Amino acid sequence: MKKIAFIGLGNMGSPLCQRLLLKYNVDIFDINKSNLKRLETLGGRIVKDLQTIANNDFIFLCLPTSDIVESLIIGNQGLAKHLKKGTSIIDMTTGEPKITRKIENILSKKGINFVDAPVSGGPKGALNGTIAIMAGCKEDHYEKIKPLLNVISENVFHTGDVGSGHSLKAGNNLLNLICRIATFEVVSLLVKDGIDPNTAVEVIQKSSGRNYATEITLPDNILSGKMFQGFTTGLMNKDATIALNNGELLKTDLPLGKLSKKILQETIEEFGLEADMSNIALTFEDKNQIRLRPID
Ligand code: NAD
Repeated sequence: MKKIAFIGLGNMGSPLCQRLLLKYNVDIFDINKSNLKRLETLGGRIVKDLQTIANNDFIFLCLPTSDIVESLIIGNQGLAKHLKKGTSIIDMTTGEPKITRKIENILSKKGINFVDAPVSGGPKGALNGTIAIMAGCKEDHYEKIKPLLNVISENVFHTGDVGSGHSLKAGNNLLNLICRIATFEVVSLLVKDGIDPNTAVEVIQKSSGRNYATEITLPDNILSGKMFQGFTTGLMNKDATIALNNGELLKTDLPLGKLSKKILQETIEEFGLEADMSNIALTFEDKNQIRLRPID
């Protein structure tokens, strides 16, 4: 039987771990004990220290940032000190390719495998078993971990070598931000010209300007008045920053990415880092003196 552990059982880690618990016993660890209680009722075994976690063969992580992952693994009291050769660490954090490659470089010298396997599709996609998982590692190691990742989701992709999963995830989210802002901008113009926002979105969705914002974001979250997507401005800001930092490192020009992040910043200044991403619509409404949400 595979020995499996999961560290970081927050909004995203919890449903990912819940999928693993359908098939395996899982050791669970989090600095916030209250996040472990529900998973314990589903069969998770609460573990109190990293030394015990290190006894497992596959250790999943879903933590806020790569800095936290780095200190948890190779910090002074880190997990690496206790790990045995052949262990696989599967990092589902939305992380930074540069830090990921640095950690992998250190661990591979000890015979420990480190894979970046970030996800896209939110907690709901995780629970449904459809979340996209982007695994960055060598081909032979991918074959070893794929059956485990398939317990979490049917949509698992090998994106290339270590770091490529984190790079692709951040790139995807930067593209989502750019498309969203471009769509809000154009729909604001059309509304100002007297067109009903529902008509504008419906027609664009059947025309060449269609994208995720016309298919999902606007109809489901804004035009419906729900104003909730379940993804914060702070997380989007983190992801856009990762992609832009990667662009700087690779000397790639990203003018639209930089501008979109600047516009996101205006929403963050007004509503904070914990605000739902739907709040960007309010920034466009204010700027252009229009209404995208339904009139109450
Ligand atoms: P969260 O804040 O809800 O959960 C993070 C968990 O990590 C918390 O339970 C926290 O106590 C724990 N933690 C922090 N430091 C720790 C440490 N040193 N040791 C052990 N546990 C520690 O965040 P989340 O929404 O679950 O996001 C986790 C990751 O998943 C992030 O990188 C995020 O970008 C990514 N992600 C989130 C979503 C989403 O919709 N929430 C979607 C895709 C990807």
